[in-house]
This record gives sequence, structure tokens and C-alpha cells, in this order.
Amino acid sequence: MALRSSLLRNFFNGSQTRQLHEFKQKERQGVAILREVLEDRLREIKRAKTWKHERVLTSPQDTKVKIQGSDKEFLNFCANNYLGLSSHPEVVEAAREGLKNYGAGLSSVRFICGTQTIHKELENRLSQFHGREDTILYGSCFDANAGLFESMLTPEDAVFSDTLNHASIIDGIRLCKAQKFRYPHRDLNELEHLLAHSEARVKLIVTDGVFSMDGTVAPLKGLRELADRYRALLAVDDSHATGFFGETGRGTEEYCGIMGAADIICSTLGKAVSGAAGGYTTGPKELVTLLRNVSRPYLFSNAPPPPVVAASLKSLDLVEHSGELRQRLRDNTRAFREGLKAAGLTVAGDDHPIAPVMVGEAPLAVELATGMLERGIYVVAFSYPVVPKGGARVRVQLSAAHSPQDVKRAVDAFAEVGRKIGIVKA
Ligand code: PLP
Repeated sequence: MALRSSLLRNFFNGSQTRQLHEFKQKERQGVAILREVLEDRLREIKRAKTWKHERVLTSPQDTKVKIQGSDKEFLNFCANNYLGLSSHPEVVEAAREGLKNYGAGLSSVRFICGTQTIHKELENRLSQFHGREDTILYGSCFDANAGLFESMLTPEDAVFSDTLNHASIIDGIRLCKAQKFRYPHRDLNELEHLLAHSEARVKLIVTDGVFSMDGTVAPLKGLRELADRYRALLAVDDSHATGFFGETGRGTEEYCGIMGAADIICSTLGKAVSGAAGGYTTGPKELVTLLRNVSRPYLFSNAPPPPVVAASLKSLDLVEHSGELRQRLRDNTRAFREGLKAAGLTVAGDDHPIAPVMVGEAPLAVELATGMLERGIYVVAFSYPVVPKGGARVRVQLSAAHSPQDVKRAVDAFAEVGRKIGIVKA
């Protein structure tokens, strides 16, 4: 509603400007009712202090970023840019080549006329990377999860999901008609109880490989044993592991020393691998073929754009030769976690670059993040309903692109702000 008539005239012809002017003069009843309802909901979000403030970057994604409204450069500890590939010159150049050779986009879904050689190439590369039979690309991992459960499970089947699984798994499960069970976070005993009492035809256990708010790792060995004992399948969302977790970056399976543990892997290309966008499901070829035929986010949404696909292909090359970057990420993770503990702060999770600094109450977490920002370090506070009540935290994410000095600066700033707001343990 903000466009004034003079501005409208710059964009529309005379009769369009008149129509839009009239449209703005008289509020339609339906819209008026909607505004009232939404204003209440927005007030409620503000009251609950769960309002999301988006900071606008004026620079590429990197370890140092610029934020609109400030001349300063901020050290960035809140992106999923685990290997620092988001603005890597070779990745950017590959995207440029992809754009030049294949165009901006396909103007089509995959099965009509939206599949190019690079889409097939990327699917094959991902199958090889994970050692799986076949792979299907999606626009995002959210789409991969949204399109998995409804496609493969019927009311005769059952799905068993960790309570802390990602929202896209929760939503994907909501869409399917299978019998639905949730087990407490990483609780193998409770999961076994549920599996033992199920008479479903296909039983699917689904878990995040690494849980994004907590930095905890799924107990893959135990999950695999239960899957075998109860003739179930295991699906792992490895978005926070693909490319960097485990010795060669094969993800949670490799980290846990049980390659091949998952029957199905869903993952993203929007975090460690390129950081651009895209997701995929890899696994048995019959499943992937079924997904190509019935999975709705695949069938009814445009093919991933060529520059994005080309960036992912180049990133996979880099990932496969990135032993040094992974080691740097491990070193940074260890230095940060040890530094914070030595400073008397509590860091949750396993030895993963997601390092949540636990605070407790939401206002304190906001105070901590604000204090860090004042010291030039960009981190974000999370509180209920994103995390449980009383579990407010500032989530830190390390990158291979951080220098040891960057990590030390963050540790020192956390210690200083932590003391100031009284969350440092004696
Ligand atoms: N799964 C998990 C565990 C995630 O953390 C995320 C991203 O936040 C997604 C899926 C969604 O990935 P994408 O950004 O590719 O949709």
C-alpha cells in the first residue's frame, strides 16, 4: 500500500494507475478482516518475543559480512557455510559458466522439458559420493523431505520420527497417510518399544544426522541395529553433515564409523556444498524412480537453475579434495568449544561445528547476542518455540574459513559479555 500515485505513474500506464488508485482507496471487506486477524497474531508473536528480525547483508556470504545500516564489518558465526565455499572464487566462476552455457533457468519442471545434462551429472555425482544406487534432485532439502513420506508410505505403513527432527521432516510426515510415531530425542529404548508394537508393513525410522539446534549426533549404530531387528528402514537427513562431517565429508555415517547405515539419505546443497540451493534424496533405485513419478515438489516445481547446479558440481570437486578444509573446521570447532568451556560457559552438542551457547531464558540470550554484535560478532539468539522453553541459546556455527584469530576473538567476546550478563559459571 506504500506506493504513492506519483510512483505508480512511473510503473503503470494511465488506466492501470487509475485502477490501482481506486483499489487502494477502498479496502475490500475480506482484506480488512484478514488484516485484523493477522494484526492479532503478529501482536502475539511480538508479545511472546519470538519476532524474527532479518538483518540485511550488503556483502556476499562469508566469514566477514557487512550489514545494512552499519559501516562496520562483522565476523560471521551464524551461517551454514561450513567449508567456506559460498563465495569461493571457483564456485562463483562455475556458476557463471553454468549461466553462460545453460541459461538462467529451465522455465519448466524436470519431466516436461526441465532436465539438462548437468542435472543428470549432478545426480550421478551425488550417487557416487554417497555410494548409493540413484539420486533425485529437488529445489531444496525442504522439498526433498516434503516429497518423500507421502510418496513412499501408505496407511499400511508406519513412520518413527525423532522429536527434534527438522521442520521439513515434520511437515513431510504430516502430508503422508502412514501411522505416525514420535520417539524422544535419541531415545533408542523408547523407539524399540514403538517398533516392537508395530505391525505395519513398511516401517521407516527417520532422523536428522546432526540436529541443527543442538549440534547433537544421531546414534546411527543403535538406529541401524533396531532397524535390522524390526525389519525397518532408516532414513537420515544429513543436511548438517554432508561434505564436512567424517574424515572425507561423507557425513554422519562416516563420523559414526558405519558407512551404509542409512537406507535413504536426504540432504541439502545449500549448506557445506556450494551454499547456493538444492536438495536431494539418494537410495534404492526403485524409490528414486517412484519419487520421479509421484513426488509432488519434484513434479510440480521448476528444475534447479543451471548456475546453482554448476556451482554444486564444482563444490563437490572441492569437497572431494578438501581434507585440509575439513581439518581446519575440526580445529576451529575444538578451539571454540574448549575456549568457551574454559571461560565458564556452557556449550551443548557433540564435537560438531554447531556449538550452541546455552543461556536459559530468552531475554538473556538476546542480551548475549546483542553484546556480541556490539563487539563486531554476528551470532543469533534462539528461544521458544524454535527450542524448548528455558532452553534459549546463542547458536554459533564454525567454518573452515574462520582463522584461529577469528575464533579467539569470538571466544574472548563471549567470555566478556557472559561475565557482564552473569552467565559465567564460577
Ligand atoms: N533438513 C535440515 C536438518 C535442515 O537443517 C535444513 C535447513 O535448515 C533443511 C533440511 C532444509 O534445507 P534446504 O535449505 O535445502 O531446504
